[in-house]
Amino acid sequence: MKYIEPLANLIAQLGKLPSVGEKTAARYAYHILNAADEETDALIDAIRTVKREVHFCSVCGNYTENEVCDICASRDKSVICVVKEPKDIIALEKVKDFKGVYHVLGGVISPLERVGPDDLRIKELIKRLDGVDEVILATNPDVEGEATAMYLARLIKPLGIKCTRIARGLPEGSVIEYADERTLSRALASRIVL
Ligand code: ZN
Repeated sequence: MKYIEPLANLIAQLGKLPSVGEKTAARYAYHILNAADEETDALIDAIRTVKREVHFCSVCGNYTENEVCDICASRDKSVICVVKEPKDIIALEKVKDFKGVYHVLGGVISPLERVGPDDLRIKELIKRLDGVDEVILATNPDVEGEATAMYLARLIKPLGIKCTRIARGLPEGSVIEYADERTLSRALASRIVL
């Protein structure tokens, strides 16, 4: 059976979303087709708004609607927690233990994927270190996350700033984004000095 053209197109577009196979894409497409106009208008609006109004914080690289994100604008800047992606900030903020600010690298060093230090927001991090007491390296506890944390520690420690690593308590190879709050809280509390 072949889908009529507009439906086939919608299924193809939805199928580009992560973890959405053709069957799921078709289910979503039929749902959209049968939904009330208000529902589909709200979906289209939400997508447009996110694309138009959300961008990176000029300080930390987190997502924000403003020039500077709420965390950078309001919190203690003496402790910076370095993460791979904005999604990690959402996970760490759920813990509520951390009162400092963040810095998003935009990836991790990965020779296999040809990502080097210059491809990450490392220069921006170094520029922020004036008056900072501690940098918490909260990249994922996998090979690339560890290598990136070690690279950063080698850059930052000679500047006389304390470098810590939160990995302890997180299972090896796990991802911060999906870690539960208790595990993250423990990992943050028992961070080790590098
Ligand atoms: Zn920010």
